[in-house]
Amino acid sequence: MVQYNEGITPPRPMVDADSLPFWKVLQETKQLHFQRCGDCKELMHPPRPVCHKCHSFNMEWVPTTGKGKIYSYVVYHRPVHPAFKVPYEVVLVELDEGVRIVSNMIDCEPDEIYIGMPVEVVIDQVFEDLPLPKFKRQNT
Ligand SMILES: [Zn+2]
Repeated sequence: MVQYNEGITPPRPMVDADSLPFWKVLQETKQLHFQRCGDCKELMHPPRPVCHKCHSFNMEWVPTTGKGKIYSYVVYHRPVHPAFKVPYEVVLVELDEGVRIVSNMIDCEPDEIYIGMPVEVVIDQVFEDLPLPKFKRQNT
């Protein structure tokens, strides 16, 4: 699980014109949403201005179930930023809708994680104005 050292602010995600709506809807609804093409209905992440399937600019935001499985993961034994306590993991979660997102776990140690592990999203209000979507074990 990812934990932060006290007194050191963790790095903020880069927010640009394409990803701003992703972070804004997360902050306002406290629910994970993904970008969907308004024409062909393809789900996408990370956010982009144009549909990668049909090249439409008609984008919309739809909520997810927040449930998925660990698709892959890595364990960091050296911190990439002084705010992170080591070891910690970075997981690639494939949501039930088929979209993948890079995140962290909040409730298990790196050696407890396995590919295919059922997980569900947790909205972690790391910054006052910017929550981060993280994951925990799924209670099935
Ligand atoms: Zn499309």
